[in-house]
Amino acid sequence: MFGLRTIVVALLVFLMETDPSSSLHAPSFSLNHAKSYLGSSKRWARTTVSWATGEAKPILGPWPAAYPAKDYCSKCGLCDTSFVANVTTSCAFIGDGMARAVQFEEAVHGRSRLLRSAFDDDGPTNPKCSDTTLGPGRGSATVDGPLDEARFGVLEEILYARAKPSVVGSQWSGVVTTICQSLMETGAVDAVALVAADPKDALEPLPILARTPSDLLRGRGVKPSLAPSLALLNEVKADPSIKRLLFCGVGCSVQALRAVQADLGLDELYVLGTHCVDNSPSVNATKTFLNAAGIDTQAVEAAGDGLAYEFMADFKVHVKRSSPSFSSSSSPSSPSFFSSEMQDSGVEQNDSYEKIPYFCLPGTVAEVAIAPSCLTCFDYTNGLADLVVGYMGAPLEGGSEMTSQWQQVRYHIICCN
Ligand SMILES: Cc1cc2nc3c(=O)[nH]c(=O)nc-3n(C[C@H](O)[C@H](O)[C@H](O)COP(=O)(O)OP(=O)(O)OC[C@H]3O[C@@H](n4cnc5c(N)ncnc54)[C@H](O)[C@@H]3O)c2cc1C
Ligand code: SF4
Ligand code: SF4
Repeated sequence: MFGLRTIVVALLVFLMETDPSSSLHAPSFSLNHAKSYLGSSKRWARTTVSWATGEAKPILGPWPAAYPAKDYCSKCGLCDTSFVANVTTSCAFIGDGMARAVQFEEAVHGRSRLLRSAFDDDGPTNPKCSDTTLGPGRGSATVDGPLDEARFGVLEEILYARAKPSVVGSQWSGVVTTICQSLMETGAVDAVALVAADPKDALEPLPILARTPSDLLRGRGVKPSLAPSLALLNEVKADPSIKRLLFCGVGCSVQALRAVQADLGLDELYVLGTHCVDNSPSVNATKTFLNAAGIDTQAVEAAGDGLAYEFMADFKVHVKRSSPSFSSSSSPSSPSFFSSEMQDSGVEQNDSYEKIPYFCLPGTVAEVAIAPSCLTCFDYTNGLADLVVGYMGAPLEGGSEMTSQWQQVRYHIICCN
Protein backbone atom coordinates (compact mmCIF):
# COMPACT_ATOMS: atom_id res chain seq x y z
CA MET A 1 0.00 0.00 0.00
CA PHE A 2 1.20 3.47 -0.80
CA GLY A 3 1.71 5.67 2.20
CA LEU A 4 1.47 9.44 2.38
CA ARG A 5 5.21 9.90 2.22
CA THR A 6 5.44 7.84 -0.95
CA ILE A 7 2.64 9.75 -2.61
CA VAL A 8 3.91 13.14 -1.61
CA VAL A 9 7.39 12.45 -2.85
CA ALA A 10 6.10 10.93 -6.08
CA LEU A 11 3.89 13.98 -6.55
CA LEU A 12 6.71 16.37 -6.01
CA VAL A 13 8.69 14.58 -8.65
CA PHE A 14 6.07 13.74 -11.22
CA LEU A 15 3.12 16.11 -10.84
CA MET A 16 4.65 19.17 -9.28
CA GLU A 17 7.53 21.33 -10.11
CA THR A 18 10.07 21.94 -7.38
CA ASP A 19 12.49 24.83 -7.33
CA PRO A 20 15.99 23.37 -7.55
CA SER A 21 17.67 26.75 -7.96
CA SER A 22 16.23 28.41 -4.89
CA SER A 23 18.80 30.04 -2.72
CA LEU A 24 16.60 29.11 0.22
CA HIS A 25 18.26 25.72 0.51
CA ALA A 26 15.60 23.85 -1.44
CA PRO A 27 16.91 20.32 -1.82
CA SER A 28 17.13 19.01 -5.33
CA PHE A 29 14.70 16.18 -5.92
CA SER A 30 15.86 13.33 -8.10
CA LEU A 31 14.08 10.32 -9.48
CA ASN A 32 16.27 8.06 -7.38
CA HIS A 33 15.20 9.95 -4.30
CA ALA A 34 11.57 9.25 -5.17
CA LYS A 35 12.21 5.62 -6.00
CA SER A 36 13.77 4.98 -2.63
CA TYR A 37 10.46 5.99 -1.09
CA LEU A 38 8.31 4.29 -3.71
CA GLY A 39 10.02 1.00 -2.93
CA SER A 40 9.23 1.34 0.74
CA SER A 41 6.42 -0.69 2.26
CA LYS A 42 6.57 1.18 5.50
CA ARG A 43 3.35 1.94 7.27
CA TRP A 44 2.33 5.21 8.80
CA ALA A 45 2.86 5.31 12.54
CA ARG A 46 -0.32 6.14 14.37
CA THR A 47 0.24 8.59 17.16
CA THR A 48 -1.31 7.78 20.47
CA VAL A 49 -2.04 10.98 22.30
CA SER A 50 -5.23 10.42 24.26
CA TRP A 51 -7.03 12.03 27.13
CA ALA A 52 -10.29 11.24 28.88
CA THR A 53 -13.14 10.47 26.54
CA GLY A 54 -16.77 10.85 27.13
CA GLU A 55 -20.10 11.57 25.54
CA ALA A 56 -21.43 15.06 25.90
CA LYS A 57 -23.94 17.22 24.15
CA PRO A 58 -22.60 19.53 21.44
CA ILE A 59 -22.89 23.23 22.16
CA LEU A 60 -25.86 24.71 20.36
CA GLY A 61 -25.80 28.27 21.68
CA PRO A 62 -24.55 31.38 19.91
CA TRP A 63 -20.91 31.76 18.95
CA PRO A 64 -18.73 32.84 20.66
CA ALA A 65 -20.67 33.56 23.88
CA ALA A 66 -21.80 29.94 24.42
CA TYR A 67 -18.38 28.43 23.68
CA PRO A 68 -15.92 27.68 26.49
CA ALA A 69 -13.12 29.85 25.09
CA LYS A 70 -15.59 32.74 24.63
CA ASP A 71 -14.16 35.59 22.54
CA TYR A 72 -10.95 33.62 21.93
CA CYS A 73 -12.80 30.65 20.42
CA SER A 74 -11.46 29.99 16.92
CA LYS A 75 -14.62 28.05 15.99
CA CYS A 76 -12.56 24.90 15.37
CA GLY A 77 -15.71 22.76 15.58
CA LEU A 78 -14.73 20.45 18.46
CA CYS A 79 -17.49 21.88 20.65
CA ASP A 80 -20.06 21.18 17.92
CA THR A 81 -19.53 17.46 18.60
CA SER A 82 -19.65 15.09 21.57
CA PHE A 83 -15.87 15.58 21.80
CA VAL A 84 -16.70 18.78 23.64
CA ALA A 85 -16.19 16.48 26.66
CA ASN A 86 -12.47 16.89 26.01
CA VAL A 87 -12.50 20.64 25.58
CA THR A 88 -10.40 21.54 28.60
CA THR A 89 -7.55 19.29 27.46
CA SER A 90 -7.88 19.91 23.73
CA CYS A 91 -8.83 23.51 23.06
CA ALA A 92 -5.97 25.66 21.87
CA PHE A 93 -7.33 28.59 23.86
CA ILE A 94 -8.21 27.09 27.25
CA GLY A 95 -5.86 26.41 30.14
CA ASP A 96 -2.40 25.67 28.78
CA GLY A 97 -3.82 26.25 25.30
CA MET A 98 -1.25 26.25 22.56
CA ALA A 99 1.53 25.54 25.04
CA ARG A 100 0.23 21.94 24.90
CA ALA A 101 1.59 21.75 21.38
CA VAL A 102 5.04 21.17 22.90
CA GLN A 103 3.79 17.89 24.43
CA PHE A 104 1.90 16.90 21.31
CA GLU A 105 4.86 17.67 19.09
CA GLU A 106 6.88 14.88 20.64
CA ALA A 107 3.98 12.41 20.42
CA VAL A 108 3.23 13.29 16.81
CA HIS A 109 6.73 13.68 15.40
CA GLY A 110 8.72 11.47 17.76
CA ARG A 111 10.73 14.40 19.02
CA SER A 112 10.44 18.12 19.71
CA ARG A 113 11.64 20.74 17.30
CA LEU A 114 15.24 21.85 17.49
CA LEU A 115 15.37 25.29 18.97
CA ARG A 116 19.11 25.79 18.77
CA SER A 117 20.40 27.84 15.92
CA ALA A 118 23.47 26.87 13.98
CA PHE A 119 24.58 30.43 14.74
CA ASP A 120 24.55 29.92 18.53
CA ASP A 121 27.80 28.07 19.11
CA ASP A 122 29.34 27.15 15.85
CA GLY A 123 29.14 30.37 13.95
CA PRO A 124 27.26 31.21 10.79
CA THR A 125 29.48 29.15 8.53
CA ASN A 126 28.22 25.85 9.95
CA PRO A 127 25.32 24.89 7.67
CA LYS A 128 24.18 21.89 9.71
CA CYS A 129 22.66 21.75 13.15
CA SER A 130 22.85 18.27 14.60
CA ASP A 131 21.94 18.46 18.24
CA THR A 132 21.63 15.66 20.78
CA THR A 133 22.28 17.87 23.76
CA LEU A 134 18.85 19.32 24.33
CA GLY A 135 17.80 16.88 27.02
CA PRO A 136 15.62 13.79 27.33
CA GLY A 137 13.01 13.34 24.69
CA ARG A 138 14.51 15.85 22.32
CA GLY A 139 16.13 13.19 20.21
CA SER A 140 18.36 14.24 17.38
CA ALA A 141 17.99 15.43 13.87
CA THR A 142 19.84 17.21 11.17
CA VAL A 143 18.29 20.21 9.53
CA ASP A 144 19.61 22.34 6.75
CA GLY A 145 20.18 25.93 7.62
CA PRO A 146 19.77 27.81 10.86
CA LEU A 147 16.52 28.02 12.78
CA ASP A 148 14.31 26.21 10.25
CA GLU A 149 12.81 23.98 12.93
CA ALA A 150 12.51 26.77 15.46
CA ARG A 151 10.54 28.76 12.93
CA PHE A 152 8.49 26.09 11.18
CA GLY A 153 8.42 23.00 13.41
CA VAL A 154 9.85 19.49 13.26
CA LEU A 155 10.74 18.78 9.67
CA GLU A 156 12.36 16.28 7.43
CA GLU A 157 12.52 18.55 4.44
CA ILE A 158 11.37 21.93 3.17
CA LEU A 159 10.65 22.25 -0.53
CA TYR A 160 9.26 24.89 -2.83
CA ALA A 161 6.68 23.54 -5.23
CA ARG A 162 3.79 24.40 -7.52
CA ALA A 163 1.22 22.06 -9.02
CA LYS A 164 1.81 21.23 -12.65
CA PRO A 165 -0.62 21.76 -14.31
CA SER A 166 -2.24 24.14 -11.86
CA VAL A 167 -5.71 23.24 -10.59
CA VAL A 168 -8.40 25.57 -11.93
CA GLY A 169 -10.16 27.32 -9.04
CA SER A 170 -7.44 26.68 -6.46
CA GLN A 171 -5.99 29.30 -4.13
CA TRP A 172 -2.47 29.26 -5.61
CA SER A 173 -1.62 26.44 -8.00
CA GLY A 174 -3.51 23.72 -6.11
CA VAL A 175 -0.69 21.85 -4.34
CA VAL A 176 -3.14 20.93 -1.56
CA THR A 177 -5.88 19.71 -3.90
CA THR A 178 -3.38 17.73 -5.98
CA ILE A 179 -2.10 15.89 -2.90
CA CYS A 180 -5.70 15.15 -1.81
CA GLN A 181 -6.55 13.83 -5.27
CA SER A 182 -3.54 11.54 -5.35
CA LEU A 183 -4.23 10.07 -1.93
CA MET A 184 -7.81 9.35 -2.94
CA GLU A 185 -6.97 8.04 -6.41
CA THR A 186 -4.39 5.59 -5.05
CA GLY A 187 -6.86 4.36 -2.43
CA ALA A 188 -4.64 5.47 0.44
CA VAL A 189 -7.57 7.16 2.17
CA ASP A 190 -11.31 6.47 2.48
CA ALA A 191 -12.31 10.10 2.92
CA VAL A 192 -10.86 13.61 3.08
CA ALA A 193 -12.06 16.19 5.59
CA LEU A 194 -11.78 19.58 3.93
CA VAL A 195 -13.39 23.01 3.82
CA ALA A 196 -15.71 23.59 0.87
CA ALA A 197 -17.68 26.74 0.08
CA ASP A 198 -21.24 26.96 1.29
CA PRO A 199 -23.48 26.72 -1.82
CA LYS A 200 -25.27 29.86 -0.58
CA ASP A 201 -22.09 31.94 -0.41
CA ALA A 202 -18.76 31.18 -2.07
CA LEU A 203 -16.82 32.92 0.73
CA GLU A 204 -18.53 31.01 3.57
CA PRO A 205 -16.59 27.93 4.78
CA LEU A 206 -18.45 24.62 4.95
CA PRO A 207 -16.55 21.57 6.26
CA ILE A 208 -17.34 18.39 4.32
CA LEU A 209 -16.18 14.80 4.12
CA ALA A 210 -15.10 14.26 0.53
CA ARG A 211 -15.35 10.74 -0.85
CA THR A 212 -15.20 11.35 -4.59
CA PRO A 213 -12.91 13.35 -6.91
CA SER A 214 -15.66 15.92 -7.52
CA ASP A 215 -16.20 16.34 -3.75
CA LEU A 216 -12.47 17.04 -3.47
CA LEU A 217 -12.69 19.88 -5.97
CA ARG A 218 -15.09 21.64 -3.63
CA GLY A 219 -12.16 22.25 -1.28
CA ARG A 220 -10.30 24.43 -3.79
CA GLY A 221 -9.62 27.97 -2.67
CA VAL A 222 -9.41 29.51 0.78
CA LYS A 223 -12.70 30.62 2.31
CA PRO A 224 -11.01 33.18 4.53
CA SER A 225 -12.88 32.93 7.81
CA LEU A 226 -12.91 30.61 10.84
CA ALA A 227 -14.12 27.16 9.76
CA PRO A 228 -15.50 24.51 12.15
CA SER A 229 -13.47 21.72 10.52
CA LEU A 230 -13.79 19.40 13.54
CA ALA A 231 -17.59 19.49 13.45
CA LEU A 232 -17.22 16.38 11.26
CA LEU A 233 -15.69 14.25 14.01
CA ASN A 234 -18.88 12.47 15.13
CA GLU A 235 -19.65 11.63 11.50
CA VAL A 236 -16.15 10.19 11.07
CA LYS A 237 -16.37 8.13 14.23
CA ALA A 238 -19.84 6.78 13.40
CA ASP A 239 -18.96 5.71 9.86
CA PRO A 240 -17.41 2.23 9.71
CA SER A 241 -16.35 2.79 6.10
CA ILE A 242 -13.88 5.49 7.18
CA LYS A 243 -10.78 3.86 8.57
CA ARG A 244 -8.17 5.99 6.83
CA LEU A 245 -8.79 9.71 6.95
CA LEU A 246 -6.95 12.67 5.47
CA PHE A 247 -7.72 15.80 7.47
CA CYS A 248 -6.97 19.21 5.92
CA GLY A 249 -6.92 22.08 8.37
CA VAL A 250 -5.27 24.99 10.12
CA GLY A 251 -3.13 24.85 13.27
CA CYS A 252 -5.74 25.41 16.00
CA SER A 253 -8.02 22.69 14.65
CA VAL A 254 -5.09 20.32 14.16
CA GLN A 255 -4.08 20.77 17.80
CA ALA A 256 -7.59 19.84 19.03
CA LEU A 257 -7.70 16.95 16.55
CA ARG A 258 -4.39 15.58 17.84
CA ALA A 259 -5.82 15.61 21.36
CA VAL A 260 -8.75 13.35 20.45
CA GLN A 261 -7.52 11.41 17.43
CA ALA A 262 -7.01 8.14 19.29
CA ASP A 263 -10.73 8.05 20.04
CA LEU A 264 -11.90 8.32 16.45
CA GLY A 265 -11.64 4.62 15.69
CA LEU A 266 -9.31 5.22 12.74
CA ASP A 267 -6.52 2.97 11.54
CA GLU A 268 -4.68 5.82 9.86
CA LEU A 269 -4.92 9.58 10.18
CA TYR A 270 -2.99 11.81 7.80
CA VAL A 271 -2.90 15.54 8.51
CA LEU A 272 -2.32 17.94 5.63
CA GLY A 273 -2.06 21.41 7.16
CA THR A 274 -1.84 24.89 5.78
CA HIS A 275 -0.09 27.85 7.30
CA CYS A 276 -2.65 30.23 8.73
CA VAL A 277 -2.03 33.66 10.18
CA ASP A 278 -4.86 36.13 10.29
CA ASN A 279 -8.25 34.62 9.73
CA SER A 280 -11.50 36.60 9.77
CA PRO A 281 -14.03 35.84 12.50
CA SER A 282 -16.92 35.51 10.01
CA VAL A 283 -17.82 35.79 6.36
CA ASN A 284 -19.35 39.21 7.08
CA ALA A 285 -16.03 40.38 8.51
CA THR A 286 -14.28 39.08 5.38
CA LYS A 287 -16.61 41.11 3.21
CA THR A 288 -16.24 44.20 5.40
CA PHE A 289 -12.49 43.93 4.95
CA LEU A 290 -12.72 43.44 1.17
CA ASN A 291 -15.16 46.33 0.81
CA ALA A 292 -12.87 48.56 2.88
CA ALA A 293 -10.07 47.58 0.51
CA GLY A 294 -12.19 48.75 -2.42
CA ILE A 295 -13.46 45.37 -3.67
CA ASP A 296 -17.15 45.23 -4.56
CA THR A 297 -18.01 41.77 -3.21
CA GLN A 298 -21.65 42.03 -4.27
CA ALA A 299 -20.69 42.59 -7.89
CA VAL A 300 -18.26 39.65 -7.76
CA GLU A 301 -20.95 37.44 -6.24
CA ALA A 302 -23.56 38.54 -8.78
CA ALA A 303 -21.18 37.61 -11.61
CA GLY A 304 -20.56 34.16 -10.08
CA ASP A 305 -16.82 34.86 -9.93
CA GLY A 306 -14.33 33.55 -7.37
CA LEU A 307 -12.38 35.77 -4.97
CA ALA A 308 -9.14 35.00 -3.20
CA TYR A 309 -6.71 37.23 -1.39
CA GLU A 310 -3.38 36.94 0.39
CA PHE A 311 -1.17 39.29 2.38
CA MET A 312 2.01 39.09 0.33
CA ALA A 313 5.67 39.68 1.05
CA ASP A 314 5.70 42.75 -1.23
CA PHE A 315 3.60 44.51 1.45
CA LYS A 316 0.48 44.41 -0.68
CA VAL A 317 -2.77 42.47 -0.43
CA HIS A 318 -3.18 40.61 -3.71
CA VAL A 319 -6.86 40.15 -4.51
CA LYS A 320 -7.52 37.64 -7.29
CA ARG A 321 -10.87 37.65 -9.09
CA SER A 322 -11.44 34.53 -11.18
CA SER A 323 -14.07 34.14 -13.86
CA PRO A 324 -14.73 30.73 -15.34
CA SER A 325 -15.11 30.34 -19.06
CA PHE A 326 -16.79 27.16 -20.23
CA SER A 327 -16.82 25.48 -23.56
CA SER A 328 -20.46 25.33 -24.71
CA SER A 329 -20.63 21.55 -24.23
CA SER A 330 -19.54 21.66 -20.58
CA SER A 331 -21.34 24.77 -19.40
CA PRO A 332 -23.21 24.01 -16.16
CA SER A 333 -26.65 25.46 -15.47
CA SER A 334 -25.30 27.65 -12.67
CA PRO A 335 -21.81 28.75 -13.67
CA SER A 336 -20.64 29.95 -10.26
CA PHE A 337 -16.90 29.58 -9.81
CA PHE A 338 -17.19 27.48 -6.68
CA SER A 339 -20.48 25.73 -7.39
CA SER A 340 -20.45 22.00 -6.97
CA GLU A 341 -21.57 21.69 -10.58
CA MET A 342 -18.32 23.12 -11.80
CA GLN A 343 -16.00 20.46 -13.14
CA ASP A 344 -12.53 21.03 -14.42
CA SER A 345 -13.06 19.56 -17.83
CA GLY A 346 -13.47 22.27 -20.41
CA VAL A 347 -13.15 25.09 -17.88
CA GLU A 348 -10.64 27.87 -18.12
CA GLN A 349 -9.83 30.41 -15.46
CA ASN A 350 -9.52 34.09 -16.30
CA ASP A 351 -7.91 36.02 -13.47
CA SER A 352 -7.58 39.71 -12.77
CA TYR A 353 -5.67 41.12 -9.80
CA GLU A 354 -5.83 44.17 -7.60
CA LYS A 355 -2.77 44.79 -5.45
CA ILE A 356 -3.43 47.09 -2.54
CA PRO A 357 -0.50 48.39 -0.48
CA TYR A 358 -0.95 47.70 3.23
CA PHE A 359 -0.58 51.39 4.04
CA CYS A 360 -3.64 52.17 1.89
CA LEU A 361 -5.89 50.03 4.08
CA PRO A 362 -7.94 51.80 6.76
CA GLY A 363 -6.14 51.73 10.12
CA THR A 364 -9.09 50.08 11.82
CA VAL A 365 -9.27 47.15 9.45
CA ALA A 366 -7.48 44.67 11.73
CA GLU A 367 -10.04 45.26 14.49
CA VAL A 368 -12.85 43.99 12.29
CA ALA A 369 -11.11 41.53 10.03
CA ILE A 370 -8.91 39.48 12.36
CA ALA A 371 -10.41 37.18 14.98
CA PRO A 372 -9.10 37.56 18.59
CA SER A 373 -8.04 33.88 18.50
CA CYS A 374 -5.72 34.64 15.58
CA LEU A 375 -4.16 37.58 17.37
CA THR A 376 -3.22 35.21 20.22
CA CYS A 377 -2.24 32.21 18.07
CA PHE A 378 1.25 30.70 18.38
CA ASP A 379 0.97 28.12 15.65
CA TYR A 380 0.78 29.93 12.34
CA THR A 381 3.02 27.27 10.79
CA ASN A 382 0.86 24.31 11.88
CA GLY A 383 3.54 22.43 13.79
CA LEU A 384 1.43 19.31 14.46
CA ALA A 385 0.56 18.49 10.86
CA ASP A 386 2.43 15.81 8.94
CA LEU A 387 2.66 17.87 5.80
CA VAL A 388 2.17 21.62 5.52
CA VAL A 389 1.64 23.90 2.53
CA GLY A 390 1.87 27.68 2.64
CA TYR A 391 3.46 30.68 1.02
CA MET A 392 5.22 31.94 4.14
CA GLY A 393 8.97 31.56 3.63
CA ALA A 394 8.60 30.79 -0.08
CA PRO A 395 10.30 33.01 -2.65
CA LEU A 396 8.02 35.62 -4.23
CA GLU A 397 8.91 35.96 -7.87
CA GLY A 398 8.39 39.42 -9.33
CA GLY A 399 6.12 39.40 -12.37
CA SER A 400 4.39 36.12 -11.62
CA GLU A 401 0.99 35.79 -10.01
CA MET A 402 -0.44 33.54 -7.28
CA THR A 403 -1.33 30.80 -9.73
CA SER A 404 2.31 30.33 -10.70
CA GLN A 405 4.15 31.30 -7.49
CA TRP A 406 6.06 28.79 -5.38
CA GLN A 407 4.49 27.33 -2.26
CA GLN A 408 6.48 26.07 0.69
CA VAL A 409 5.93 22.36 1.37
CA ARG A 410 7.22 21.08 4.70
CA TYR A 411 6.90 17.52 5.82
CA HIS A 412 7.80 15.21 8.65
CA ILE A 413 6.16 11.86 8.22
CA ILE A 414 6.82 9.06 10.69
CA CYS A 415 6.79 5.55 9.30
CA CYS A 416 7.17 2.26 11.03
CA ASN A 417 7.62 -1.29 9.77
C1 LIG B 1 -7.70 30.42 6.56
C2 LIG B 1 -6.35 30.32 5.92
C3 LIG B 1 -5.41 31.33 6.11
C4 LIG B 1 -4.13 31.22 5.54
N1 LIG B 1 -3.18 32.20 5.78
C5 LIG B 1 -1.89 32.01 5.35
C6 LIG B 1 -0.86 32.91 5.69
O1 LIG B 1 -1.11 33.92 6.34
N2 LIG B 1 0.41 32.63 5.27
C7 LIG B 1 0.70 31.52 4.52
O2 LIG B 1 1.86 31.28 4.17
N3 LIG B 1 -0.27 30.66 4.16
C8 LIG B 1 -1.55 30.88 4.56
N4 LIG B 1 -2.54 30.00 4.22
C9 LIG B 1 -2.21 28.90 3.37
C10 LIG B 1 -2.12 29.28 1.93
O3 LIG B 1 -3.22 30.02 1.53
C11 LIG B 1 -2.01 27.92 1.25
O4 LIG B 1 -0.75 27.90 0.72
C12 LIG B 1 -3.04 27.63 0.28
O5 LIG B 1 -4.29 27.50 0.88
C13 LIG B 1 -2.71 26.39 -0.48
O6 LIG B 1 -2.80 26.74 -1.75
P1 LIG B 1 -3.31 25.66 -2.78
O7 LIG B 1 -3.53 26.34 -4.09
O8 LIG B 1 -2.39 24.52 -2.72
O9 LIG B 1 -4.72 25.24 -2.08
P2 LIG B 1 -6.02 24.62 -2.73
O10 LIG B 1 -5.65 23.44 -3.56
O11 LIG B 1 -6.84 25.70 -3.32
O12 LIG B 1 -6.75 24.04 -1.40
C14 LIG B 1 -7.25 24.92 -0.42
C15 LIG B 1 -7.36 24.17 0.88
O13 LIG B 1 -7.71 25.11 1.90
C16 LIG B 1 -8.68 24.54 2.74
N5 LIG B 1 -9.48 25.63 3.30
C17 LIG B 1 -10.24 26.50 2.62
N6 LIG B 1 -10.79 27.38 3.46
C18 LIG B 1 -10.40 27.03 4.70
C19 LIG B 1 -10.64 27.55 6.00
N7 LIG B 1 -11.41 28.63 6.20
N8 LIG B 1 -10.09 26.91 7.05
C20 LIG B 1 -9.33 25.82 6.89
N9 LIG B 1 -9.03 25.31 5.68
C21 LIG B 1 -9.57 25.90 4.60
C22 LIG B 1 -9.47 23.59 1.88
O14 LIG B 1 -9.95 22.53 2.67
C23 LIG B 1 -8.39 23.07 0.91
O15 LIG B 1 -7.82 21.92 1.46
C24 LIG B 1 -3.82 30.11 4.74
C25 LIG B 1 -4.78 29.10 4.53
C26 LIG B 1 -6.03 29.19 5.12
C27 LIG B 1 -7.03 28.09 4.88
S1 SF4 C 1 -11.69 26.83 19.81
FE1 SF4 C 1 -12.67 24.84 19.42
S2 SF4 C 1 -12.35 23.68 21.30
FE2 SF4 C 1 -11.98 25.83 21.81
S3 SF4 C 1 -13.94 26.61 22.56
FE3 SF4 C 1 -13.85 27.04 20.37
S4 SF4 C 1 -14.87 25.31 19.34
FE4 SF4 C 1 -14.37 24.70 21.46
S1 SF4 D 1 -4.42 32.07 12.96
FE1 SF4 D 1 -4.25 30.41 14.46
S2 SF4 D 1 -6.13 30.61 15.68
FE2 SF4 D 1 -6.48 31.76 13.80
S3 SF4 D 1 -7.55 30.29 12.48
FE3 SF4 D 1 -5.34 30.26 11.99
S4 SF4 D 1 -4.52 28.57 13.24
FE4 SF4 D 1 -6.53 29.10 14.09
